[in-house]
Amino acid sequence: MNEFEIIKQYFTTDSGRKDVIMGPGDDCALLQMQPNTLLAVSTDTLVAGVHFFADMDPVALGHRALAVNLSDLAAMGADPCWVSLALTLPEVNEAWLRGFCEGFFELAEYYNVALVGGDMTRGPLSITVTVHGSLPRDRGLRRNGAKAGDGIYVTGTLGDAALGLQQQLGKVTVDEQHCEFVRTKFEHPHPRILAGQALRNIASSALDLSDGLLGDLGHITAASSLRAQLELEHLPLSQAMIDTVGLEQGWQLALTGGDDYELCFTVPEMHRGQLETALAHCGVKFTRIGRMVAGEPGVELLAEGKPYKLTARSWDHFRSGE
Ligand SMILES: [Mg+2]
Repeated sequence: MNEFEIIKQYFTTDSGRKDVIMGPGDDCALLQMQPNTLLAVSTDTLVAGVHFFADMDPVALGHRALAVNLSDLAAMGADPCWVSLALTLPEVNEAWLRGFCEGFFELAEYYNVALVGGDMTRGPLSITVTVHGSLPRDRGLRRNGAKAGDGIYVTGTLGDAALGLQQQLGKVTVDEQHCEFVRTKFEHPHPRILAGQALRNIASSALDLSDGLLGDLGHITAASSLRAQLELEHLPLSQAMIDTVGLEQGWQLALTGGDDYELCFTVPEMHRGQLETALAHCGVKFTRIGRMVAGEPGVELLAEGKPYKLTARSWDHFRSGE
């Protein structure tokens, strides 16, 4: 099969979106923007051996490639609209392509995202996805809007994807009852689109957690010129995490493990009631984990009110596979 046959066979679908004036097949896609909206655009590249195991299940990989991009739209509070996909494949493997498309289009259909174009080349396996979303003007959830006194919140539980990775690497043994949960958290991230939209009028800043809470929250403190105080005992940990590594190592994974794709956001005290209602409506659990204070940008860790220092000890545990 050549490039055009593959595109025709696997990547030509009708999303039914009326704002796609011209989809794949011409030199460019032509897309209709609504008046008074902003276009939110984000790109991510996943490279085999760097971002995923080369033998990863193609269905999960198709899902993941789109999910991590949609997560960036969620972090801005944007409505997903369109996506383009650039695939570099070492060979044409139809079973792999079928699986990839199954995972990719299942998620695309769920959020009503139209594939509007892309590219295909031969080479080491790599996937580049660009998503486009729309936002009411002046409503984007940026990183620089936090104010001193705002509460810091996260959706879901933290560190589970990192735990799933440690399990796949054979560095921790997860009890059988939790295996499916941590594997799914790692392989099948769920972008928090509805939560992001619900936070549009409520949160003062937001981002998605891709590299670990400590570093990612650091971006909000830097952009907002404030300091974050985190209360570690409030970090939301799953039962799988607590049963597998215990509380303190759970904190470490929650703080430094990546790939959670949960949202981290700040909310002024006066919007607290609105926040409860809005996220209850979309069925998303969230937890207050600290607050923004005046001071040097950075993240301060407190355990029972006292300063807490991250040690390398638990990381050594994972590194040496003890
Ligand atoms: Mg992001």
